[in-house]
Amino acid sequence: MTVRAILEAKGRQIVAIEPDTLLASAAKVLADRRIGAVLVLSRGRLQGILSERDVVRSIGEFGAAVLTLPVSAVMTRNVVSCRQTDTVGSIMELMTNRKFRHLPVVENGEIIGVISIGDIVKSRLREFENEQQALQDYIKTA
Ligand code: AMP
Repeated sequence: MTVRAILEAKGRQIVAIEPDTLLASAAKVLADRRIGAVLVLSRGRLQGILSERDVVRSIGEFGAAVLTLPVSAVMTRNVVSCRQTDTVGSIMELMTNRKFRHLPVVENGEIIGVISIGDIVKSRLREFENEQQALQDYIKTA
């Protein structure tokens, strides 16, 4: 299975904020949209990624006053991305090795979606269920 198949199942919507968005507003976006990370874009260009871990870590390090800072102060700037043609196995390995749970999907220099570890788990579950169903059908008809 490839990244393309996951994007087709989940859709290609992207949630993004500007680098000067305050951390408190960014936390509200994560809460309202029920997502774990948001891309930080400026004039359509990827500047960074902010995950719930960054919010918690920065509050832990600097206290609640950090919520009044812009996200550019705490986001991760070196964003690792994947492509539609990457296999699910390869992005699982990437996420495990690099210890993050979100990957923007980039095609021809444009962001066309975001894959989370939750999307991967969902797609693997669907695969297992289909496999199990196929085996049961095979047993019934054999
Ligand atoms: P996560 O596990 O995705 O919530 O993120 C853990 C840490 O990795 C946070 O500091 C994120 O900003 C960072 N991070 C998340 N996704 C990526 C990515 N695709 N590339 C680089 N850093 C990332």
